[in-house]
Amino acid sequence: MNSIMKQVAELIMNQQPCVALTGAGISVESGIPTFRSKGGLWEKFDPAVYASIEVFRQDPSKYWSIRGEFIRNYDDYSPNAGHLALAELETMGLLRHVITQNIDGLHRKAGSRNVTEIHGSLREIFCVRCGKEYRAPKIPEGMPPLCVCGGVLKPNTVLFGESLPPQALETASRQAGTCKVMLVIGTSAVVQPAASLPFVARQNGARIVEVNIQNAFPAADFRIAEKAGVALSGIVAELKKLPFQGC
Ligand SMILES: [Zn+2]
Repeated sequence: MNSIMKQVAELIMNQQPCVALTGAGISVESGIPTFRSKGGLWEKFDPAVYASIEVFRQDPSKYWSIRGEFIRNYDDYSPNAGHLALAELETMGLLRHVITQNIDGLHRKAGSRNVTEIHGSLREIFCVRCGKEYRAPKIPEGMPPLCVCGGVLKPNTVLFGESLPPQALETASRQAGTCKVMLVIGTSAVVQPAASLPFVARQNGARIVEVNIQNAFPAADFRIAEKAGVALSGIVAELKKLPFQGC
């Protein structure tokens, strides 16, 4: 295991820029509930009812009634070793960007600066009428919670039936298409558009490193079958052993 982490560390040192694509797997160690997996949230609550934009427009209290199931209190969750290792890689100048499918905001909490959240973030909540932004956990009481103007509040996350923010998508594909190494971490990469990003990277000559307990991306050049926290802090430790090669 250590030898593969060393190989990946050398790859990251020698082939820049490096970009990370992350999914639910990286946040499991922070206790964030999963959505799609077995036993996940969508087995208990039909997303077509509780998380669809169409239903939200007619009856936003449906969504807000299970909001606590997504994240009970935003401030209760902390980034884990995996998020922290990616933030450290960025500080070391060895990670250009994080593209994430997660809405938990933990990459930013960990200190990553260049982050694209393609499904939005639970942290931001805005008024659908006047656009005023609220920050979790300071969400007004009430069901559904209303803005001071009386408008309905909506999370800044992409609900089912909603299109993804075009600017985030554009950034994600540009990052994927211009990197030399892509770390694919804790994502089954079956949900579009994230699923296509490793292929975009590969077509443009990038090497793919998969960090996942399960093998989800067979075309990866390197595979570390470990928890994200273990694998990523291991890679950072190996990088620190390498002789500094200058900027
Ligand atoms: Zn308002």
